[in-house]
Amino acid sequence: MNMIVVIGHRNPDTDSVVAAIAGSYFFNKIGKESRPARAGELNRETKFVLNFFEEKEPELIKDLTGWNFVLVDHNSVKESVEGRDDQKLVAVIDHHYLSGIQTKIPILYRSEPIGSTSTILAKMYWERKIDIPVKIAGLLLSGIISDTLKFNSPTTTDEDRQIAERLAQIANVDIDRLAEEMFEAKSNLDGIPIEEVISQDYKVFESLKGMFGMGVWETVKPEVLIDQKEKIITALREKKEKDKLKWLFFAVVDILKQNSYLLLIGDEEGDLAQRVFAGQADQGIMFLPGIVSRKKQVVPRILDYLNK
Ligand code: MN
Ligand code: MN
Repeated sequence: MNMIVVIGHRNPDTDSVVAAIAGSYFFNKIGKESRPARAGELNRETKFVLNFFEEKEPELIKDLTGWNFVLVDHNSVKESVEGRDDQKLVAVIDHHYLSGIQTKIPILYRSEPIGSTSTILAKMYWERKIDIPVKIAGLLLSGIISDTLKFNSPTTTDEDRQIAERLAQIANVDIDRLAEEMFEAKSNLDGIPIEEVISQDYKVFESLKGMFGMGVWETVKPEVLIDQKEKIITALREKKEKDKLKWLFFAVVDILKQNSYLLLIGDEEGDLAQRVFAGQADQGIMFLPGIVSRKKQVVPRILDYLNK
């Protein structure tokens, strides 16, 4: 039998890593031999979570050539590691917009407009009457907390809340305390080079008028980043050129107050942001009240505008 790799997206976040671990356990349970992988270096929140629930880091896979694989928490080729051949795709478990996967044979494709891939995986266990082990419950709960910013992101559904409660009971952890420690770990910038800050949670999108990139940094201490605005903007300008983008945005998301600060690195970005969000830019920063979700509140609006 062929070993299957279960892998999340590049610039992995907590949801994509715990979904790979929980997904692999699930596929092993249903008789498909698999192992979890990560598509890049882990952020501090994810490291905290793995450490907290005493789970080791999945192996790093930067090239899928030759592997049969399951995609979790993404489906876009742009977000996958190199070497992806969709004829070897076994399954997709995801909560992002569809971006045109084609296969020659039917595959398991599970996608829901819900707060996290972790939520979907918990449902899949229960649908198959598979018990969720204590550790996996903790990991899945962390994936939900991370992606929904503890149920505050507009991507959150009632199901995310209910399933998180059930998982918290199994894992015997307090959701508020776990979330607080996760966000604290995520907000710790000490010793992280600026290049990593701008690219750790970064995605590229295609529109009819050109490609744009968008990086996000979720934090409980936005001022720490705002204070380093000039350095960040310089690094972003370099990245924009290197990645050959027409626009590059970077948002500092205030997890607690539920707002974003959009850093505008040039006239193109300022102009587009003004048209899409109608906000006022002040010294290169546009304050976006109530906006915390790139997936639901930012990218669709930019794409709508650019694809008109
Ligand atoms: Mn993700
Ligand atoms: Mn996710």
